[in-house]
Amino acid sequence: MTDRTIYTIYGTDACAMTMALMEKADVASRIPKKDARICMKPNLVVAKPPESGATTHTGILEGVIRYLQDHGFTHIDIIEGSWVGDSTRRAFSVTGYDKLAKKYGVGLYDLKGDDTRSMPTPAGNFDVCCRALDADYLINLPVLKGHCQTVMTCALKNGKGCLPDREKRHFHSMGLMKPIAALSTVLKPDLILVDSICGDLNFEEGGTPVQTNRMMLGFDPVQMDTYGCRLMGIDPYEVDYIPLAEKYGSGSMELREEDIVFLNQPKDARGFPPRSGIVSSLTRNVQQKNACSACYGSLVHALYRMQEEGRPFKKNIWIGQGYEGQAIEGIGIGRCCAGATKNVPGCPPSAEAIMKLLEENR
Ligand code: SF4
Repeated sequence: MTDRTIYTIYGTDACAMTMALMEKADVASRIPKKDARICMKPNLVVAKPPESGATTHTGILEGVIRYLQDHGFTHIDIIEGSWVGDSTRRAFSVTGYDKLAKKYGVGLYDLKGDDTRSMPTPAGNFDVCCRALDADYLINLPVLKGHCQTVMTCALKNGKGCLPDREKRHFHSMGLMKPIAALSTVLKPDLILVDSICGDLNFEEGGTPVQTNRMMLGFDPVQMDTYGCRLMGIDPYEVDYIPLAEKYGSGSMELREEDIVFLNQPKDARGFPPRSGIVSSLTRNVQQKNACSACYGSLVHALYRMQEEGRPFKKNIWIGQGYEGQAIEGIGIGRCCAGATKNVPGCPPSAEAIMKLLEENR
């Protein structure tokens, strides 16, 4: 039975966070043999640096490689195919994956040139890249971020990078949702490490990164995407491919409180979301003093979601460690603002929990 634990860590050092998560989950004991062919599948949808909110941080791949090599694993590859119209090679260079692969002596493969096999799925046959299918241990490294067509993207949708360009076009012609869910029946990750450091607010190609300085490790892509939705204030049933993937048997949407294990709590009070136009406008009524990026990021997602649904929230909101122990006449976010007349508990609370309280206090 699939382990249903989701480990969560906060911080700013992606490499160290990754290694800590893998140690905690004892990943080494889960890999069948020391010479297993281990493939890492990051998200390099476009040739943009991770700070844009679009791509997987290079430090995460470094953390995986270091952890695996420290535990004696010898065959490690990075595999990816960027979206139609962009060059994976250019993405490898922009993100520094090429230098990383050289430094640690691991393989780096552009799946656009890979052999493919036709795989039967509930939505018909799909051509899938052989390097992904033939991995002994497949590590999915998605970015948790918004998406203009599918609302959000995380573990399930990241599989699309393992298709040749002709199949990616086919997926779009089918409307994305059903084929993404169907692909999960033949391309099953053994491990998922989610980059939720600064995933984009609403576009998979980045541009509006929202700093949350968070990473998660889990094993079930359906459960992980369900959790990702909650963190972003999205109803997972609105993302059609998630319940469909559950129906196809690729995992379960069940998410119990005890499934989430926190390795630490956020404490950075400096990494604020870059003040792009949309973030500034969403937070114009927010009074913040030393808020952690994880807390602030959840609030930004909640405010964005409510605005998208045509119900923008216009009252003042307080957030941040600077309000700890203070009485606040109004709405306070997180444990630090427990002195507010209306408070969302948690450290940090999810966007889902914030939305609930804001809706109740319009
Ligand atoms: S409740 Fe306070 S300490 Fe916790 S994440 Fe929010 S600002 Fe940081």
